[in-house]
Amino acid sequence: MDARTYVASVAEESLGLAAGSLKPETVPDELVSGFSSALRGEATAGAEGPLLERLMLSPVLAAARDAALSEDGYLVRKARWPGAAPFAVCLTHDVDNISRPRSHLWRTRSRFSAPELVAGLLGLVSLYDNVKLLAKGEGSRGFHSSFYYLSSNYPLGAVRPESDRIRASGWDVGLHGDFGTHDSQEKMDEAVTRFSGAMGFRPTGLREHYLRFDFAKSWPIMEAAGFDYDTTVGTNDRLGFKIGMASPFHPPDGAWSPMNLLELPLVLMDTTLWGYLKRSEEEGFSDSLRMMKDVEDVEGLFTLLWHQEAVRMKGGRIYWRLLDEIARRGCFVGSGAEISRWWRSRSTPLVKRGNLIRLDGQPPHGLVLRLNLAEGRTPRVSSGSIERRGDEYLVRPEGPDFALEVDH
Ligand SMILES: [Zn+2]
Repeated sequence: MDARTYVASVAEESLGLAAGSLKPETVPDELVSGFSSALRGEATAGAEGPLLERLMLSPVLAAARDAALSEDGYLVRKARWPGAAPFAVCLTHDVDNISRPRSHLWRTRSRFSAPELVAGLLGLVSLYDNVKLLAKGEGSRGFHSSFYYLSSNYPLGAVRPESDRIRASGWDVGLHGDFGTHDSQEKMDEAVTRFSGAMGFRPTGLREHYLRFDFAKSWPIMEAAGFDYDTTVGTNDRLGFKIGMASPFHPPDGAWSPMNLLELPLVLMDTTLWGYLKRSEEEGFSDSLRMMKDVEDVEGLFTLLWHQEAVRMKGGRIYWRLLDEIARRGCFVGSGAEISRWWRSRSTPLVKRGNLIRLDGQPPHGLVLRLNLAEGRTPRVSSGSIERRGDEYLVRPEGPDFALEVDH
């Protein structure tokens, strides 16, 4: 593969177009060069917004739609998210610490409410271990999230019982890559071995501590260590989209072939708001909503990192308001593992032959096709349902015999 073919394959999958329908030669140079420099870690002019996502919607999708409507009389594509949800949210928590000495708690006492501070000082509650609290609050809203544990900062034996409990209820537990794992295969393999031995399973999801990332080395190391997905690529010290992407993609290997590894680009980290930008709670809340809006505008994935130790603190406690806001938006919400599962099952090819459209395999649960028709065309669906929404149709495949036909 070359860069252009790789970018065409990413755009085709991302936009959910029929297999082979996006010809590499039609992909604009701006998107190919934007992708190539982003994947080398070179900041692009559009890194303040999801620039590559915007280019995929326009001109790529817009041009594909115009061409398909005039040539075939219709355009069909897989919706990005289950139920054709407008965008998705991935909830994640890094577990940097699970306890702090009483002296630290006293020194930072202004961060906590008076009753919690007293309870914390008396040892009645651990203010820095909020895994259970988070899982309870997320579960009550029908959400799951991911927790990433360091393998060498605290005894994993202490966190295993809670990890076992939440995993059994659908939460995702992965590795928070210790220092050095992002550019050393040996360190990564050691961390995976330590984690697996203590936790009783091999981690499939990853986020690097301090978002350390080396564009030449990190993805190949993660791929070789057998990770299913990573969610490290994001900004620390400012708000923005590090590589201009806000949806999952398979990073390329040295020969521009997509890896098995899926990258879920990180969109917002709590400590950027409080530690780097010194925002007030209200400012931090509006910044979060603005970032979410940028993602919604491109049908993207809002991957949120909220440190578990911060959720009772000033700033960190707005997490619950954010969850309520997310619940109101009608978006798809999942852990890293759920997002990865969905993205992989959605890759079932959409096969188009003339005016007949099928799926090459069992339709994944929740898959919706979005259909645009030219004047005078009529859709016919077998093994599925169809409904009109605005100026398009939503088609729900229901079984392996699904077929959609567009008549003159
Ligand atoms: Zn960390």
